[in-house]
Amino acid sequence: MDISDIFKHRKKKLNKMMQARKKQDLDETIECKKCHGTFKKETLLKNLMVCPDCNYYFSMTPHKRIHLVADEKTFKEHLRGLKSVNPLDFPDYDEVIAKNKEKSKRDEAVCTGVMKLNGITCAVAVLDSKFMMGSMGTVVGERIVAITEVAGRKNLPLIIFSASGGARMQEGMFSLMQMAKTAAAIKKFQDNGGLYISVYTNPTTGGVSASFAAMGDILIAEPDALICFAGPRVIEQTIGEKLPEGFQHAEFLEKSGMVDMIVERTKLKETLYKLLVLHGMS
Ligand SMILES: [Zn+2]
Repeated sequence: MDISDIFKHRKKKLNKMMQARKKQDLDETIECKKCHGTFKKETLLKNLMVCPDCNYYFSMTPHKRIHLVADEKTFKEHLRGLKSVNPLDFPDYDEVIAKNKEKSKRDEAVCTGVMKLNGITCAVAVLDSKFMMGSMGTVVGERIVAITEVAGRKNLPLIIFSASGGARMQEGMFSLMQMAKTAAAIKKFQDNGGLYISVYTNPTTGGVSASFAAMGDILIAEPDALICFAGPRVIEQTIGEKLPEGFQHAEFLEKSGMVDMIVERTKLKETLYKLLVLHGMS
């Protein structure tokens, strides 16, 4: 057996192992957080991460979200090299970042880039609730601003999918500053005629809901998404009153005019495309 045969043999073995692992992964049993029904991961993936029994929307990683809306192999990620630092010397922050990197297989809580959606080039950002609850620190703010500026320079529509627990407490005031910074960049983009579509996914809360996420020219929400600044429990404890049914959820906010439309995942790409065409994008 010569050296090339050895490599071929090893490659075959590796492929077999990877396929077996993939199959094992797809066979994993998942329990729905809402109805507690169980099903295979493969079923959930085929159903776009929506519970087949009760329609509960599982969170989507940036990878899956981009796969859902982008034309195949058109997404190009921007600013991959940015790294979080620990400006306040916050205890254990570096370890927390390292753990989240390993868990999410991403380098930060947002992924930004340019993609095509049914042939229309768009700037896009997707927050990742699996990375420190999608919280906004300096890197998240910087990436949102940078992709907004790309959209402005290249006359592209901007689509942001938000999922966040708010500003990142470990970066203190540096995190809070990102609210003003991202809001200013979006305002400048819109003043120059840019189109910004904001998609709220579950949950979009705190400083993200109070800055760029709420500034969309069109505000779309996924069904039953929690969208709020302070959570219902905090408000109930503060005002000492019971809140109405569905308070701060997408359907409630649509009724009160805070959300323009609720769009199911199966119709998301088609709806975004219609909106882009309606605004003269091609
Ligand atoms: Zn369910």
